[in-house]
Amino acid sequence: MFEPSALITNLLAAVALKDSAGAGMRAVMQREQDFPSPTQARLTGVALDPNGRAYADEILDTYWSDERHRRELFSSGSSTREVIIGSGVHAAIYAAIRVLRGYPKPLVLERADRVGGNFAMTGWPTFFLNSRNRAGAGGLAGDLGASLNYLPGAPIQAADLSMREYITNADMAFAVRLALAQYADVVPNANVVSVNPDSPGVEIGIEGDASLLAGRVLDARGVGDPNDQDVADGVTILTFPQFMRRMAGAWPLRGVRRVAVIGGGDSGKCAVESCLGIGPQPFMAAIGVDQVDRVDWYAVGLPTTCERWQEDIRGRYQAIGRYLRPDRFGARRLTVLPRTARPVALPGAGLVDGRMYDVVVLCTGNRETIIDGLTVATFEEYTTADGAAVAREHDTLPVFRVGPHARLPLSTRERTDGVAAIAANEVSIFRTAPKTAALAATLPPVTRD
Ligand SMILES: Cc1cc2nc3c(=O)[nH]c(=O)nc-3n(C[C@H](O)[C@H](O)[C@H](O)COP(=O)(O)OP(=O)(O)OC[C@H]3O[C@@H](n4cnc5c(N)ncnc54)[C@H](O)[C@@H]3O)c2cc1C
Repeated sequence: MFEPSALITNLLAAVALKDSAGAGMRAVMQREQDFPSPTQARLTGVALDPNGRAYADEILDTYWSDERHRRELFSSGSSTREVIIGSGVHAAIYAAIRVLRGYPKPLVLERADRVGGNFAMTGWPTFFLNSRNRAGAGGLAGDLGASLNYLPGAPIQAADLSMREYITNADMAFAVRLALAQYADVVPNANVVSVNPDSPGVEIGIEGDASLLAGRVLDARGVGDPNDQDVADGVTILTFPQFMRRMAGAWPLRGVRRVAVIGGGDSGKCAVESCLGIGPQPFMAAIGVDQVDRVDWYAVGLPTTCERWQEDIRGRYQAIGRYLRPDRFGARRLTVLPRTARPVALPGAGLVDGRMYDVVVLCTGNRETIIDGLTVATFEEYTTADGAAVAREHDTLPVFRVGPHARLPLSTRERTDGVAAIAANEVSIFRTAPKTAALAATLPPVTRD
């Protein structure tokens, strides 16, 4: 039977008491027997009701950012505690499996003010995931009976949050946040800057705060910071997260007629979708008042015509292709320019290759965030008893890199299973989540010796 944490219990009680937020929770109880437990039914009801979800999000943020709560967690430090750096998918999975295995709740340290990792970069939905929304337990991309966005151990799954073919970042973030609320202690605004030996464990340095002791560290820093963020001015030249935060605000495309997107990966595709009106609907935006007329997409290796796009690009992004041909009045909104580019910020505009744009979005990949004492050279592959590499282990410290941050190469088995067919699969949840779950299930308890 699922036993809710004190935070989840309080959250459900608060939502039930608020008339405007409790409708989904009440509606779902008519079919309580379809869910593994009454609590999971209620959580699903909260998640499916936009008002319920917004209120629940507010409760979580208020609880996690409470200064007294932060002080208590920091002062209750011990050299046997497990600390996770980062609060994304892999933090949630690790914490869930550890607690379900009978170990204490790990402490999660998140540098951002919003908990939930990459998908929580905005509270409002701003991009669709590229992995299909399917019910079921975890599995590989080609397995139609498996869920690709599965969080082992989570109270509710992303597939319980939406019936869309592709869920939004906000759906995934909500599932992650609920898992953390159930299975972890969480501190936002805690930027880890160093990890040093402090026998038998480690000492964790946090920017602007006292250091913490831990017996084991799970380094779940994710895909890292945007490349080229030094070029962005946050106004006319934006990184992908900055652009998405803009899309989450009111009137994000006001005065924006010409946009350049630089980079052709998944972030670039999501940015182009936002400009063309085929991403999630922004809070306040309408084509009648703000329309982007022209998107120039500086991207090497992408098809430049509608026909080639439809042949070469996978289903999730098919809709972009039709903007690569003129409409019947001869207007074409999207052009792929197959070259790299570097923008210059001018007052009120971004300049790329001699062309002026109202907004330039940089989608040129990510680089590792820096933590003293944890450089990549000091980590080796860590394998479970079946010979599968599931994480990287520090050569002297009790520290494990998990998720995409572990940068595990594709194994022969993964190549045979077709995981290597799509480059983005390397960091996909369906590939990395089971590895983190296996690590959490098999690591021994932390001891003082
Ligand atoms: C735009 C985009 C779209 C994607 N879409 C998909 C998709 O559709 N399907 C899919 O399977 N995968 C997708 N991915 C990949 C997926 O997001 C990642 O693999 C997954 O989120 C990684 O989870 P994580 O927990 O390892 O890290 P993240 O979710 O990246 O979380 C890491 C957290 O660590 C925090 N952090 C970093 N440094 C520190 C520090 N020093 N101290 C404290 N905290 C720190 C960060 O602030 C962040 O919140 C996408 C990635 C991107 C960038």
